[in-house]
Amino acid sequence: MTYNFGAGPCILPQEVFKQAAQAVLEFNGTGLSILEISHRSPEFEQVVDETVRLIKELLNVPEGYSVILLQGGASMQFSMVPMNLLGDGQSAAYLDTGVWATKALKEAKIVGNVDVVASSKEANYTYIPKDYQIPADSAYFHYTSNNTIYGTELFETPKTSVPVVCDMSSDIMSRVINVADFSLIYAGAQKNIGPAGVTVVIIKDSILGKIDRKLGSMLDYKVQIEGGSMYNTPPVFAIYVAMLNLRWLKSKGGIADIEKENLSKSDALYKEIDRNLLFKGTCKIEDRSRMNVCFVMENPELEKSFLKFAEDRDIIGIKGHRSVGGFRASLYNALPITSVHVLIDAMQEFEEKQRNQQTFS
Ligand SMILES: *Cc1c(COP(=O)(O)O)cnc(C)c1O
Repeated sequence: MTYNFGAGPCILPQEVFKQAAQAVLEFNGTGLSILEISHRSPEFEQVVDETVRLIKELLNVPEGYSVILLQGGASMQFSMVPMNLLGDGQSAAYLDTGVWATKALKEAKIVGNVDVVASSKEANYTYIPKDYQIPADSAYFHYTSNNTIYGTELFETPKTSVPVVCDMSSDIMSRVINVADFSLIYAGAQKNIGPAGVTVVIIKDSILGKIDRKLGSMLDYKVQIEGGSMYNTPPVFAIYVAMLNLRWLKSKGGIADIEKENLSKSDALYKEIDRNLLFKGTCKIEDRSRMNVCFVMENPELEKSFLKFAEDRDIIGIKGHRSVGGFRASLYNALPITSVHVLIDAMQEFEEKQRNQQTFS
């Protein structure tokens, strides 16, 4: 048994792996592998339909929104969003809360004017800026709900009269949200939705068609919506596995139930970080992410040996991103609470070991 705390691609439920493996051999009584069936076959059209239906059902997507499945990752959305929504002479407002937000606004600047309304860069993104104004004539306001690298999360949708666009790659489906607060939500699947290779975009239909930039077909949300996520060959296997994972989430009771579990996982780990004398959190407490828990050691010289200590207990994927250092434990939906307890036990044992060494040396 391995306890994988990787930040993405990350673990999916074991039963999803098993069902996916089976479908590679033989898909749904067709006599064919999921890897060889036509994406235009009725069997696969059903997969796309069910995937979209599950996303709508789990997130309670209201009328007037389209859900599409694209390729290119969240990073492609960094470009598609301004191309489709930022008209000539307009400005888009961006909140800079980390690497992904910075990458998003860099792409928007290629398309038009960008207003960075606030940034926590000066504090290495250890908190979420709260006091800022969003100009009322902005084409849209863009933010990142969970900062995967720094371990901060924005739990309350900022109040504004302009359309809100959100990169939810690393916390979508982890807690209840009100989709109606947003005009556009996007997420690379590989954190909470499924494997890498598919990107979910949820769009309020009425925000489209307001600007007259000419776009390549693949980059045009309208073309993708009209094509029903099948304008070209979609990532068949990635969509299928995402569907299996969404079924799993539904069988667990849906998002409200998984949110409770996610909260107990992150609470338990933060509690240990705050209690254990060897470790400390890196972010402002009120902004701490439930998905990516970042922490360092009071004595950085011990970090290598704790990493080894954890690896010896089959705990993997906890090395922090190079821009933060220390450790990052990602607690996505599929990570069982038992894995969190294994990590906490390791932290306690390590503390005990250090205490004994200090006493006896
Ligand atoms: C992982 C991640 C991305 C990048 O996603 P890709 O699908 O690799 O482009 C963007 N934003 C956030 C918040 C992420 O966590």
